[in-house]
Amino acid sequence: MNNHKGCFLPLNALAVHPHGERKFCLTSTLPSIKNSEDFNFQRIKIHEELLNGEWPSSCKSCKFKEGQGIQSRRTRTWERKISRYGEAESVEMLAKQKEPYIRHLEITFSNLCNITCAMCSSEFSSSWIKLDKKALDSGLSFRDFTRPYQTVNRMSQETMEQILTHASEFDLVIIKGGEPTIEPLCLEFLQRLGKLRLENSPLVFIQTNGTRDPSEWLPCTEGLKLEVGFSLDGWGKVGDWIRGTSFDQVLKNFKTVANHPSVQEITVDFTFSLYNCFHLPEFFENILALKNETPKFKECAVFQWVQQFYASPLSLTLESRMKVKEQVSLVFDKDPALFLNYENLLKVLELPRLPETSIETARKWTGFMNDSRGFSIYDLQPELVSALEKSL
Ligand code: SF4
Repeated sequence: MNNHKGCFLPLNALAVHPHGERKFCLTSTLPSIKNSEDFNFQRIKIHEELLNGEWPSSCKSCKFKEGQGIQSRRTRTWERKISRYGEAESVEMLAKQKEPYIRHLEITFSNLCNITCAMCSSEFSSSWIKLDKKALDSGLSFRDFTRPYQTVNRMSQETMEQILTHASEFDLVIIKGGEPTIEPLCLEFLQRLGKLRLENSPLVFIQTNGTRDPSEWLPCTEGLKLEVGFSLDGWGKVGDWIRGTSFDQVLKNFKTVANHPSVQEITVDFTFSLYNCFHLPEFFENILALKNETPKFKECAVFQWVQQFYASPLSLTLESRMKVKEQVSLVFDKDPALFLNYENLLKVLELPRLPETSIETARKWTGFMNDSRGFSIYDLQPELVSALEKSL
């Protein structure tokens, strides 16, 4: 991790949330601001504080992660800028900037999604709406936070048109979901961006769950510098359980996308959770084998944190996690360059266990997901049973 002060997001980024909020950073806790003067005032203030080495209260997530020695969105963005502009130019660019100039677009066209990952919710997947209502009806009040999101929310055509008028200013467009490959407005955006044939065209990164047949969406990306990130968190049946879809089909689609001429690089994004902790060595061994047969496979980004605390691996006993740490370290050692931020995952394996109230919530949630899937994660990973036992 680099030690540079400041953050590119406040003045360089625009992040559009699936529910239409506009922020400069989806990690920041600053509420979205409707008035553009206020928005700019806040951006500039936060930019200056970060540049002076101070932590604004809205940046507590990055502060916490960096305090633990873990990659944050801020440090990850620094890495991307350095790889595009070089270190000296990136430092100068950020220090000189006084006014907002959007180079970096992180965009979510809707929360339309066709699957129900165990660590997701209605906020990012419309398929979760029915299930979230069922969870609340069965007394799982910790899903209360999903109530405001229990609708399908899509970006307006007008907003998409406005964004396209700034296309020549972008160096990076990150598209997330929902599931972007099933969202018609996203596919129209990609087609029109490609047809602009910009001289300095941005890198377009699409994060997908990999379920849609590539022949139905890849033709829309012609003319783009394209990177595709597949979200994979479990191999085989564990993958089926975590994502509630067919892992075998996703793997087949991964290989098709990797062989497509318009795709420059393909990556895997892995989210560490309670449900794949004991599966880590097997999963990453398979990733190594996949890399060997896929020349465009650049990296496997290891996300060490899940949004919902009750899907966190920190519900598991520290002793059981330390055993996993030993085993998975041996796998990472085989090709450390492939695994982006794997050190963070190793650190999480060493962190103290959550309090008993949180662990009880994790047990309830796992039970609810087992019922929803129609098969049990405990059968796939019997170690989970004892590792989720009471801490007292
Ligand atoms: S420091 Fe973190 S939370 Fe704050 S703006 Fe940058 S990336 Fe967002």
